Order: sequence, then C-alpha cells, then structure tokens
Amino acid sequence: MRLLIMGPPGVGKGTMAKHINNVYHIPHISTGELYREAITKMTPIGKLAKDFLDRGELVPDDITVNLVKRTLKNENYQKGFLLDGFPRTIPQAQALDDILKQNNWKIDMVLNLLADDELLIERISGRRTCKKCGELYHIINKKPKIRNICDQCGGILFQRPDDNRETVAHRLKVYQEQTQSLLEYYHQRHLLRNINGAGTIEENIAEVEKILGGFNDND
Ligand code: AMP
Repeated sequence: MRLLIMGPPGVGKGTMAKHINNVYHIPHISTGELYREAITKMTPIGKLAKDFLDRGELVPDDITVNLVKRTLKNENYQKGFLLDGFPRTIPQAQALDDILKQNNWKIDMVLNLLADDELLIERISGRRTCKKCGELYHIINKKPKIRNICDQCGGILFQRPDDNRETVAHRLKVYQEQTQSLLEYYHQRHLLRNINGAGTIEENIAEVEKILGGFNDND
C-alpha cells in the first residue's frame, strides 16, 4: 500500500504513521525526520536545511524532492510506503506524480488529519521528543514515568527547536499558505480521506483503522 499522511503540524501525523507502520507493516518515511537526522549528522543536506527548520520554513522544493527521490530508491520502499510530511507544495506533489509514474506506482489513499490551530499550538509547544528513539511525549497529556526520560529506551527527552510557540504559529501559517491547497489536488483525484485529529490518540487511531481495515491492497 502507498499512503500519504497530511495535516498541520502537531495534528498527530507522526504518531499515526508509527501506528500504521506497526499494524500494517508499511514502512514510514518522514521528511521532517530525514532532515533532523541529516542535521544531527551534519551532512551537506543537513547543513543546507538547518536554518529553514529552525525558522519553521519549508526547505526549498528541489532539495526536498531530491531527498525523497533518493530515499524512495531504497529497496525497503519498493513494495509500499507511508509518506509523512511530503508533499507539502504543489510542485512537490507534481514531482511525486513523476516518481510514481516512472515506477508504475500509484497512491492508494491520502489520510488528512484535521484539528483547530489552538489545540495544535497547545499540543506542539508541550511536546517532548526522545533524542534516541524519537518517541513522542507531552508535558501534560503523555508524561513519561520518569521526568525527561523516555519510557521505551531510557533516552533523554528534549523540545525540538521548532516546537516553541512562536515557531509553531509560523509553521501553521506556512501550512495554511503552502500546503492546504494540496488537499484540493488530492480531493480532485478522489484520494483524500479526512480524519478527525482532535480526539485522543486512541480515538484518532480508531478512525484510521476503520478506513484502512476495509481497504483491500489488491483494489
Ligand atoms: P515535520 O517534522 O514534518 O513537522 O517537519 C519539520 C520541518 O522539516 C518543516 O518545518 C520543514 O522545515 C522541513 N520539512 C519537512 N518536510 C518538508 C517538505 N516536504 N518540504 C519542505 N520542508 C520540509
């Protein structure tokens, strides 16, 4: 299955993608995570991308498209993938269409998670991420058992530099200006499935399961 997961920052794309990966074994590709890894390793792409991430801006399309092109060549993704955070602009969507065509692939579904800005700002600014395994926590809604320590792997929890209130507000603006128009792009192709992202993690997951559970990979 080839899926896209869309929605504003903080709506729960990462959590949902990890769940889908666990249950349906569809490999997850997050462009945000690819960039954060590249920045940590100080690769040439990481050096190019760092300022954009810090400011909550999109990394230019040519850099992002090349990153995705390269990633999708990996043999792990030949049978299916779940793209999280890509595409984010119309030119990226067009580039993805070209990649799909070249490989004789098609997107089966675009999952679009929805929630209000106020809730998203509260969620992201309280979010903490494990440095080691990427597990997500929240200072109020999902506290770790030991303060600032990951329950899963014992790694240290930190706040992503772009998860502070000001940068989050800017990321939401960037989403509205540059990414929301993509919803129409996929709606016209009859691929878009809207999902309430405002509930608890369990409620949101149940909604996605209803949609994916009835999906036949041979369709
Ligand atoms: P995310 O983890 O998806 O919220 O992405 C974090 C940051 O990575 C974004 O604010 C952008 O700076 C960058 N990024 C991730 N995906 C893309 C994309 N498809 N196009 C441009 N920039 C991206």
